[in-house]
Amino acid sequence: MKYIDEFRDGEVARGLAAAIAREADPARTYNLMEFCGGHTHAISRYGVADLLPANVRMIHGPGCPVCVLPIGRIDLGIRLALERRVILCTYGDCLRVPASDGLSMLKAKARGADIRIVYSAADAVKLAREHPDREVVFFAIGFETTTPPTAVAIRTAQREGLANFSVLVNHVLTPSAITNILESPEVRHLGTVPLDGFIGPAHVSTVIGSRPYEFFAEEYRKPVVIAGFEPLDVMQAILMLVRQLNDGRAEVENEFTRAVTRDGNAKAQQLVADTFELRRSFEWRGLGEVPYSALRLRDAFRAWDAEAKFDLHYTSVPDNKACECGAILRGVKHPRDCKIFGTVCTPENPVGSCMVSSEGACAAHYTYGRFREIPVRSAA
Ligand code: SF4
Repeated sequence: MKYIDEFRDGEVARGLAAAIAREADPARTYNLMEFCGGHTHAISRYGVADLLPANVRMIHGPGCPVCVLPIGRIDLGIRLALERRVILCTYGDCLRVPASDGLSMLKAKARGADIRIVYSAADAVKLAREHPDREVVFFAIGFETTTPPTAVAIRTAQREGLANFSVLVNHVLTPSAITNILESPEVRHLGTVPLDGFIGPAHVSTVIGSRPYEFFAEEYRKPVVIAGFEPLDVMQAILMLVRQLNDGRAEVENEFTRAVTRDGNAKAQQLVADTFELRRSFEWRGLGEVPYSALRLRDAFRAWDAEAKFDLHYTSVPDNKACECGAILRGVKHPRDCKIFGTVCTPENPVGSCMVSSEGACAAHYTYGRFREIPVRSAA
C-alpha cells in the first residue's frame, strides 16, 4: 500500500539501524522522548528499540489522549449517564478507562447507563438528531488532532438549533505538556529523567505545524524531529536526532514532510480558535494541574457546553495506589517498573489508563511482548 509498505521495509530498517549504531557516540547516551502514543505503539510493534544501540534510549511521553485523562473527568461523564440519564457518546477506548468506585464507562453501561461508542463527533450529532427527546452528550477527548472535528460538530449543532446536544470538552494541548515535562523537577533540577531531544507528534503536527516546537529548541536547547508513525519514520527521526546532538544543534526538523508543514492547517487552527478558549488550568493524569493546557468552549457556545448545561463540577480523584501510570507518563518510570504489570493489570482488565488504549505504553509493551525481557516475578 502506498505510503505504508515503503515505510516498513526491513532492508531499509537494517540500514538505518546500522547508521544509528555507527553515528551514535559510544562515549555518551542519547535519551530521546517520543511524545506521542502512536510512536510508542510503533516502537513496540516493530521492535524499534531492539534495533538501537544500548546508549540510544527511548523514553515514553504523555501523548496518549486516553492515558492522560484523569479519573475525575471520566467520573463526570459516568455521572451524567447514570444520574442525568443522558446518552453519553465517546470514542471506544474511553469506555474501559478505570474510574471511581470500581466503575468504568463500560461497567456503567452494564448498570443501565446509555453510553455509546461513536467513530466521530459527527456521529454524536447524528444521534442527537435521531433522539430529539433525549439529551445527547459527546465526551470529547484528544489532542489538537481531534479538536477541529469537535468544533465542527458544535457549529453544526448551533446551525441546526440542536438544543439536545452538548459536549463535555476534554481537549488538551501538546506544547503545554512538553513545557510541563521540561519544567518538571525530574528533568530540570534532579536530572532523574535525562532528556536530550524529542520525536514530535505526527498527526498533531499536521494541524499545528512544526512552528510551535521552535520554542523548545530555542529556549530549552532540545532538538525536535517531527516524525510519521511508520517504523522507518521513527528510525529516521532517531538518526536525525543523533546527528543534531552530535553536532551540538538544537533545531526543529521535519521528517514527516509528506503531511506536516511549518504552519500547519490554518483553517483548522482558526476554527479551533473561534470555537474554544484556554482553560486556566486542567488536571492531567501523571502531570497534575497544568496551566493553560486544555480548552473549553467560548461563551458564544455555552448552550452546547455540557459542563455549563448540567452544572458539572470537577473533583480530582487519586489513581489506584499500585498504578505507576503517572510516573510512566512523566517519563520517570517504565511499564516494567509496575509491580502489577501483566499480572493484575492486563489489556483485558486494565487497572490504569496506560493499559487501555493501544497507544498506552503499558498496553503497547504487553501486546507486543516487550515485557518478556524482564525476569518473571514471584507470586509473592
Ligand atoms: S501496568 Fe497497569 S497499573 Fe501498572 S502502570 Fe501500567 S496501567 Fe498502571
